[in-house]
Amino acid sequence: TKNASGNYEVTLIPGDGIGPEISKSVERIFDAAKVPIEWESVDVTPVLRDGKTVIPDEALHSILRTKIALKGPLATPIGKGHVSLNLTLRRTFNLYANVRPCKSVPGFATHYDNVDTVLIRENTEGEYSGIEHEVVGGVMQSIKLITKPASERVARFAFAHAIATGRNHVTAVHKANIMKLSDGLFLQACQEVAKEFPSVQFDEVLLDRACLQIVQDPAQYASTVMVMPNLYGDILSDMCAGLIGGLGLTPSGNIGRDASIFESVHGTGPDIAGMDRANPTALLLSSCMMLRHMNLNSFADRIENAALSTIAEGKSITADLGGKASNTQFTDAIISKL
Ligand code: ATP
Ligand code: MG
Repeated sequence: TKNASGNYEVTLIPGDGIGPEISKSVERIFDAAKVPIEWESVDVTPVLRDGKTVIPDEALHSILRTKIALKGPLATPIGKGHVSLNLTLRRTFNLYANVRPCKSVPGFATHYDNVDTVLIRENTEGEYSGIEHEVVGGVMQSIKLITKPASERVARFAFAHAIATGRNHVTAVHKANIMKLSDGLFLQACQEVAKEFPSVQFDEVLLDRACLQIVQDPAQYASTVMVMPNLYGDILSDMCAGLIGGLGLTPSGNIGRDASIFESVHGTGPDIAGMDRANPTALLLSSCMMLRHMNLNSFADRIENAALSTIAEGKSITADLGGKASNTQFTDAIISKL
C-alpha cells in the first residue's frame, strides 16, 4: 500500500544478532537510492499465548496491513513451548512458496562460475506437516502430507514466476517413482497446471538426478524454474547456495496468501554480532527480490549492480568474502556507486 506521501509502506523485522546491523545497511542503501519506501520497524520476539507461540499483535498487524516485509535472521528462543519463529510466520501468513535464486557472483571465485538456478519450494506441507507419532515402542511414523490445492497453488506460482522472469520453463522435481501417491499427486498437479500455461515449457526430473546434474554442470538449470515439495526444496536450495559461495550471498522470498516476507537465509551470526563485521549482501539481495515483487525493478537493478560490482572489485569487501572492510565500509562503497 502507498501512504499519503506516495511511498510504499514495508514492514522491517531487523531480527537478532547481526540482524540490526545488516538491516541498517539496507536502510542506508535504500535512502541513498531514493527508493520510494517507508519502513515500519517491528519486533517479532514471540510471546506465549494459551500455550502457543505467537508473534506480537503489533508485528502481526503491521504485516497484515503492509502485506510485505523484509526480515533479518531470528533466533529461536530455547525452551519449552516455542516452535521455530520462521514456522510461526509461515503459518500465520500462509507463506506457501519459498523462492530461492542462486546466481554466481562475478568476481567472487568458487568452484563454479556459471550457476543461475531458481528454485521454488512448497512451504506449507509435505514432510514438514508436523504430524509424527510413536506407533509402538521403537517404531515412529512421520506423515508426509501432499494435497492437490497446495500443489496446484505452488505450481501456478512457479509458472507465473517463470513468465515474470523471462525463463519460460518449469521443471518439476520429484520422486514419484518411489512415492507414487504423494509425489505422484504433486507431479500430476504440475502437469495439469502446465496446460494452463501453454507458452511455458514444462518437464520433470527425479530429485537424485537433478542433484547429480546440478553439481556436474549447473548451466543445465540456468534457464528453468524448479518447483518441488518441501523437504526436497529445503535440501536442494542449500546445495545450490553452496555452489555460489554459501548462505552469505543468497536471498530468499516467502510468497504468501496474506503477505510476502523476504529474508536472508543465514543465521544470526552470534560470534560476530555487534562488531560491524557482518556481510549485508544476502539481506540486500533479498530486498532487491522484494523490490521486483513490488514492480520497482529499476531500483532493484541499480542496487544489485552497485552491490555486485563492489564485490567484483574486491577493494571494500567483508571478511567472509576474503576482504578487510567493515560492514559500514562495504555499505559506503555500495552507496558511492549509486
Ligand atoms: P543461528 O543459530 O542464528 O543460525 P549460528 O551460530 O548457526 O546462528 P550462523 O548465523 O548460521 O550462526 O552463521 C554461521 C557462520 O557464518 C558464523 O561464523 C557466522 O559469523 C557466519 N555468518 C553468517 N551470516 C553472516 C553474514 N551475513 N556475514 C558474515 N558472516 C556471516
Ligand atoms: Mg545457523
